[in-house]
Amino acid sequence: MKTALITGITGQVGSFLAEFLLGKGYEVHGIVRRASMYNRSRIEHLRADPDIYGSRLFLHYADLQDATPLRRLLCRVEPDEIYHLAGQSHVGLSFQIPESTVHEVAVATLSILEICRDLPKTPRFYHAASSEIFGSPEEFPQTEKTPYRPDNPYGCSKAFATQMVRVYRNAYGLFAVSGIAYNHESNRRGENFVTKKIARSAAELAMGREEPLVLGNLDSERDWGFASEYVEAMWLMLQAEVPRDLVLATGQSCSVRAFAKAAFLAAGIQLRFEGGGEDEIGVDEKTGKVLLRVSRDFYRKVDTVRLVGDPEPAREAIGWSARTIGCEVAKEMVRAELSTLGH
Ligand code: NDP
Repeated sequence: MKTALITGITGQVGSFLAEFLLGKGYEVHGIVRRASMYNRSRIEHLRADPDIYGSRLFLHYADLQDATPLRRLLCRVEPDEIYHLAGQSHVGLSFQIPESTVHEVAVATLSILEICRDLPKTPRFYHAASSEIFGSPEEFPQTEKTPYRPDNPYGCSKAFATQMVRVYRNAYGLFAVSGIAYNHESNRRGENFVTKKIARSAAELAMGREEPLVLGNLDSERDWGFASEYVEAMWLMLQAEVPRDLVLATGQSCSVRAFAKAAFLAAGIQLRFEGGGEDEIGVDEKTGKVLLRVSRDFYRKVDTVRLVGDPEPAREAIGWSARTIGCEVAKEMVRAELSTLGH
């Protein structure tokens, strides 16, 4: 039985990865941090299973900003594979809390690489890098060779961590890789992410909510895939013969406007857009009611307008490609929201 350690197991992606690795027969260890409220909702179903929790799934308290317990834990667990997913993951918020973002995303990754270097049995290491390292790119689609020019503190921190993974791979021979992942979503996404806001609002508005959904730039285009599919790519990257950074993407971009239109349609509402820029609104075709507004408050300080990744190198190297793409992601998320609301 292989042993994996996941940082960020309580997050959106970590919870899917834990399910995936348990399904593959792994012993899984997850790092959780102390909070004033118990925060395990995404993995509660695993924790509540007596056949899993305590026999193949173990949780340990640690914090990314505290390297000593991390070192102690890694020495004790001796994982074969580390999936490093933890950290502040919200781009917009990284402008409000830049220093803790840098500590959690950049410096903590370096700390874990340093610990890995010292371990007697060196684990394979996966780092959750992000398309935000490309910022406002000049080439489309982006590849592993596209220059990094991040536009926000989160992207800068991920760029630093991605470079450090490459440096440690080359300098110390670690099997350490970065998956340069484009947006991957699900109904487990955090509440303040745009896809979750859209899916939740579309479902609630279809069920009688009065307040319209308020969004930022509707022209932003992202490469949206489904989170539960991306965890397989992470695992495949650690099973490869040669360590290599890879872009993980669908290869298709979709605007926020198109994502919202698909989401509302999945909730049974035909949305018509009127006006433009900050005056744009989304109107229910049938009732004429305004269901969506735009607000400057949700614009980013520097907005990356379009990101789309090249999925081909990952398909060739590890045989992985995304199946749920763009508007399909919106539909899946709304279906899940409707079912949560008892529709
Ligand atoms: P989430 O925000 O849902 O999860 C982040 C996880 O990190 C949570 O488990 C959180 O714990 C944990 N965490 C945050 N800070 C600390 C800390 N100081 N110490 C210990 N744990 C901490 O993100 P996702 O699951 O969506 O993403 C996983 C990783 O992939 C992140 O690094 C993200 O930046 C990266 N990524 C994600 C993409 C996406 O589209 N989802 C795209 C590209 C990269 P808690 O539950 O206590 O808050």
